[in-house]
Amino acid sequence: MAKTKYVYFFGNGDADGDESMRADLGGKGANLAQMAKAPLSLPVPPGFTITTDVCQEYYKLGRKYPAGLEGPNGEVAKYLAKLEKVMGKKLGDEKDPLLVSVRSGAAISMPGMMDTILNLGLNDKSVEGLAAKTGNPRFAWDAYRRFIQMFGDVAMGVEHAKFEKIIDEVKSHRGIKQDTELTTDELKEIVSKYKILYKREKGEDFPQDPQKQMWGAIGAVFGSWMNPRAIKYRELNGIKEGALKGTAVTVMSMVFGNKGDTSGTGVAFSRDPSTGVNEFMGEYLMNAQGEDVVAGIRTPQKLAQLEKTNKKIYDQLCTIRNRLEKHYHDMQDMEFTVEEGKLYMLQCRNGKRTGAAAVKMAVDMVAEKLITKEEALLRVEPTQLNQLLLPQLDPAAVKKATEIASGLNASPGAGCGQIVFTADDAVAWTKEGKKVLLVRKETSPDDIAGMAVAQGILTSTGGRTSHAAVVARGMGTACVCGCSAVKFNGGKVVIGDHVYKEGDFLTIDGSTGKVYDGVVPVAPATLSKDLEKFLGWADEIRKGSVRTTASGKKVAGFEVRANGDTPQNAKDAFRFGAAGIGLCRTEHMFFDEPKLTSFQKMIISDTTEERKENLKAILPLQEKDFYDIIKTMEGRPVTIRLLDPPLNEFIQAHSDAELKALSKKLNVNRDKLAEKVAALDEHNPMLGHRGCRLAITYPEIYETQVEAIALATARLDREGVKHNVQIMIPNVVSANEVKQIREQALAVIEKVNKAKGTKLKFEIGTMVEFPRAALTADKLAEYADFFSFGTNDLSQTTFGFSRDDYSKFIDSYLKQNILAEDPFTTLDEDGPGALMGIAEEKGRSVKSDLHLGICGEHGGDPASIALCYKLGLNYVSCSPFRVPLARLAGAQAVIKAAKAGKAAKKAPAKKAAAKKPAAKKAVAKKAPAKKAAAKKAPAKKTAKKGKK
Ligand code: ADP
Ligand code: MG
Ligand code: MG
Repeated sequence: MAKTKYVYFFGNGDADGDESMRADLGGKGANLAQMAKAPLSLPVPPGFTITTDVCQEYYKLGRKYPAGLEGPNGEVAKYLAKLEKVMGKKLGDEKDPLLVSVRSGAAISMPGMMDTILNLGLNDKSVEGLAAKTGNPRFAWDAYRRFIQMFGDVAMGVEHAKFEKIIDEVKSHRGIKQDTELTTDELKEIVSKYKILYKREKGEDFPQDPQKQMWGAIGAVFGSWMNPRAIKYRELNGIKEGALKGTAVTVMSMVFGNKGDTSGTGVAFSRDPSTGVNEFMGEYLMNAQGEDVVAGIRTPQKLAQLEKTNKKIYDQLCTIRNRLEKHYHDMQDMEFTVEEGKLYMLQCRNGKRTGAAAVKMAVDMVAEKLITKEEALLRVEPTQLNQLLLPQLDPAAVKKATEIASGLNASPGAGCGQIVFTADDAVAWTKEGKKVLLVRKETSPDDIAGMAVAQGILTSTGGRTSHAAVVARGMGTACVCGCSAVKFNGGKVVIGDHVYKEGDFLTIDGSTGKVYDGVVPVAPATLSKDLEKFLGWADEIRKGSVRTTASGKKVAGFEVRANGDTPQNAKDAFRFGAAGIGLCRTEHMFFDEPKLTSFQKMIISDTTEERKENLKAILPLQEKDFYDIIKTMEGRPVTIRLLDPPLNEFIQAHSDAELKALSKKLNVNRDKLAEKVAALDEHNPMLGHRGCRLAITYPEIYETQVEAIALATARLDREGVKHNVQIMIPNVVSANEVKQIREQALAVIEKVNKAKGTKLKFEIGTMVEFPRAALTADKLAEYADFFSFGTNDLSQTTFGFSRDDYSKFIDSYLKQNILAEDPFTTLDEDGPGALMGIAEEKGRSVKSDLHLGICGEHGGDPASIALCYKLGLNYVSCSPFRVPLARLAGAQAVIKAAKAGKAAKKAPAKKAAAKKPAAKKAVAKKAPAKKAAAKKAPAKKTAKKGKK
């Protein structure tokens, strides 16, 4: 095997590497190489990049460099010599020193890593040489004092503040404010004080040997890859340890923005990163170096100012901006320096942006013919769209607001209102026209009505999967949970040293988890024209898609539906572009009075007759619920799920007082009620008497629901309103359950048809949410017209992880890499995903066009949506506020699958070419491309595996 190349040169109009080598050269190194060479050929100071492979090796070898890197004949020495030759100067030369910067840079930009060291190569002698050569001693000594400070601080860990203290003392002694006002002598004084400080802190003199300086800096960069800041940054940003090889190190010749008033340094964005508007913007400082612009020591000037003061440089920057955008087809974030009127480019990268800016830029760039619609769709992170849909705190107001606590950012968006402590108060106050914020220890299903009307929800306990969090996300309501600073004290709540009573105002930001005192103004969300257009493209792509599943079935299209239980949910869903309701839960409908009382009476009934009697009272009310929601749908599909939760959720009495109240309400004997409540208690309600099991023991429950659905539909039918209703049976594990419940339902529908003179037909399908259902999908398909995967329960039962308890251990699993993802966030391909694959194959072996969907929380997760596409599902269904995200994520799945398909087709041809000796040279050059294709191999493998 050929020896790995560790060092890549750039400069002098050419470069060894290019932009495709991010993984090896880091983003910074790869783009410097690309800018330096044709066709861009931009003014980049020459230098070389040591690859991320070295970083990887460095840690494998126990913090040692791989052979061939160090030493007088090592690769670094070789490329330093090349750099010296190109520059016509030697590193740290006494007369005319070459100075370099040492910069870090991973494949993904990572603010947690080492800062850059500038002016390396200066020492007591070369500083004199630089002074003489440039005829600018002030500049030379300024450069030297900066170098000692940066090297001491960044590479050697001498506290930054200690250097700052010295410089501040000198300035205050002279009564000056700006660093630029320091004289040469004062800079000399600072240098000697810096050196004394360095010696005191490190126990040795500041290194004078340029080689020692350079290797010290290189070692510090590689060392910084594993510093706590960098590790934390990767953790917070979901970058798995080992996913990147490490950081690269770029050593490049210095250019100087601190040579006086014809020099300067700045940063610029080719478009506005917060709004996306196509407007060149940035900031710069004259007579400054490096990070002075962002350090806040002096106030930088707007780029527009440069147009007035130095039109030549400004025009040149504009030209470069346009060329970089044309080349990268994306918004660029650039760093530049001007040395005595000459412009140099020091960095470029695709700029970070807000969700709104991402959409605007993508849409604009398609209009400018800079990118295709497909590229535009891949530009925006689906989760970024959340920012565009939720009410946001007014950013200017946040700056002035008083933050009083913070908890878990459980459901994004902003919520501001008068605090109430019970769901009933939330409802009552809202009726009076007040805006409320519900503050509770935790929430339960009884609180739904209050949660639905609240502007936001704040809880003191519970995690991101707690009831409050899940329900709030479903409703698109802001929620901060697990905020332990919130303490309940009588009728008041204490947060830090603030005390609030009912009716006081609080504001929460569910995106950050922060809680603010009083009113912070909130701006409501609207779907912008740009976003509508953008998501329209996503719909086109999904609609036109065709794929073949592992079982060999062709599936066309990939819809997005919404989970919604109320007409309001349905309206939200359409506003956000849902094609239908994939899951309409019916349990919430029973929590409204007077239905709840009748339902509770039904539950505690002793006889079937009694049960039927109580259900009769519910029937017309339930019919009204269905009538409203089906009408709102205007003929789009709506899948209504029959009752799902265990009965004990509806009838709870934890204390004597509660029992007493309930017995009074239901008009039954207390002891008898206590007995009933005890009998309903289950050890494991999620696996207990729930879903279709209720209908096997009490068929009249589902019969009543089906009757209500049929009656509502019949009424709409007579009124000439379009309808498309499906009935869904939950918790199925056996075909016999479906068979029996289906027959009962058909009998009810037949009865309604006869009575109303209608010819209604409903598709009757099942949830697939337990392993046995998936494994017997061929049998289920005999009686089911469709499947909907309930992946919350399917994940729970495949893993054997209780959704209510797994938060105790999931973090350990993720930290120790036992599991790569939280299975309740991202659908696990090997577990529930494999079962879905089996269900698809078995189900469609009986009905080849069996309609498949997903209605678990995963339906709103981009990675899970991609898996659903691959598995051949016809649609995903998610909460209304996730619909735009899902529309985009679904389109991205289509585009990426098509790309992977093309790459897979190309790959074998390339292999064949590699065998031809004549093609050797060309192949060697294309190495990175080949690597990329090889990386895609696993995807191909799984596809094959499924085929057999
Ligand atoms: P970061 O990754 O934190 O942005 P950089 O490596 O980009 O760090 O360096 C920060 C700044 O240092 C750059 O924006 C540039 O102003 C300055 N800088 C880096 N290398 C040089 C150089 N060779 N000549 C002049 N300035 C440089
Ligand atoms: Mg930078
Ligand atoms: Mg379920």
